[in-house]
Amino acid sequence: MSFFTHLECSKCGESASPTELLNLCPCGFPLLARYDLAGVARALKKTDLLDRPSHMWRYCELMPVADKQEIVTLGEGFTPLIRLDRLGRAYSTPGLIIKDEAVNPTGSFKARGLSAAVTMAKKLGATKLAIPTAGNAGGALAAYGAQAGLEVFIYMPRDTPTANRVEAEFCGAHVTLVDGLINDAGMMIADRKEREGWFDVSTLKEPYRIEGKKTMGYEIAEQLGWKLPQVIFYPTGGGTGLIGMWKAFQEMEEMGWIGSERPRMVSVQSEGCAPIVRAFEQGLEEAPAWENAATFASGIRVPKAIGDFLILRAVRESGGTAVAVSERDIFEAIREVGCREGVFLCPEGAACWAAFKQLQARSWIKPDDQVIIYNTGAGHKYIDSLLTFERRWISESISPPNSRSTQAQ
Ligand SMILES: *Cc1c(COP(=O)(O)O)cnc(C)c1O
Repeated sequence: MSFFTHLECSKCGESASPTELLNLCPCGFPLLARYDLAGVARALKKTDLLDRPSHMWRYCELMPVADKQEIVTLGEGFTPLIRLDRLGRAYSTPGLIIKDEAVNPTGSFKARGLSAAVTMAKKLGATKLAIPTAGNAGGALAAYGAQAGLEVFIYMPRDTPTANRVEAEFCGAHVTLVDGLINDAGMMIADRKEREGWFDVSTLKEPYRIEGKKTMGYEIAEQLGWKLPQVIFYPTGGGTGLIGMWKAFQEMEEMGWIGSERPRMVSVQSEGCAPIVRAFEQGLEEAPAWENAATFASGIRVPKAIGDFLILRAVRESGGTAVAVSERDIFEAIREVGCREGVFLCPEGAACWAAFKQLQARSWIKPDDQVIIYNTGAGHKYIDSLLTFERRWISESISPPNSRSTQAQ
């Protein structure tokens, strides 16, 4: 059974109904799900989880729905931790771990958020769902919408990786390509949704995607024996996963499952789109929009995040930091981790690896830190961008690092 009680505004603290289809609080800020945590603590022992199914709904008491009949799932979550022994030795950090979200349905961790959001949207009576997306969220909504039997409308930038458009179309969604970025796509949906009868599932503009993503926080704790790591690297677009994990840690502490210690949260962005990093460095509480955002790590090409104040607050409270990395560093990171560990990172995950190297070189990472690097999606979804980069490199006559392929003469 679920111990979900109500929604609460992340800004003004007002309560909102758990049984209505809602977007933002009337004050304009995100609504967060609240639970009877004392009730969960009485009803559920950590060891009860051991024989639960290996997907994110194993934490059903802490999810907005627990009824198997109502859950829209493709088996998302409970993704593996991969220990990076060789790189751990090379960078004097034996506790290096990748949380590999690439194995989720639809090839990215967006599956978690959309499984939760579509479950709730269907339960609360939505019939048509619309989403602005930088790529992976569109593919995930198309899949979960198909599974739920709901109609899906997707607005994505024209230069989104091909895989994202094709997967969405093959799952039956109506895809509109936009000359602009995710924020422009969001405005187009806002203009049309009333007339079309769409429910807007933009991240943090509906309350439940974050509940899906928070399960990453529960999983890390459970998979590490209820001890959190010292550092988490998170590639930050809208920041839903970072805010979600932070929320999960708070819930776990309130239930007495963990103590008050927290990982240092590192928000990672590309130098081509780094609003959170800039705001962090300037000591701001909100992050002004980034002009002319450009990065091939499309999942973090988000110029303005509605939850910016929540991201910045979590990073600061955690004693963490925010780091921007170059496009070239991201590309090289994909090769390095691929060649040395056999994990084919997505560019966003690779940005985290590049950021780890920066902070390790500055001794911000200590040799005995346990460090989690989020690989938020599958490298395979970015083949077109990777080939473009490789071609550019060749035309600049710089040989790509560690290249292994040769041409037959
Ligand atoms: C969406 C996305 C991100 C950013 O996630 P947020 O929680 O919105 O910050 C990172 N990586 C990939 C692959 C994504 O699809």
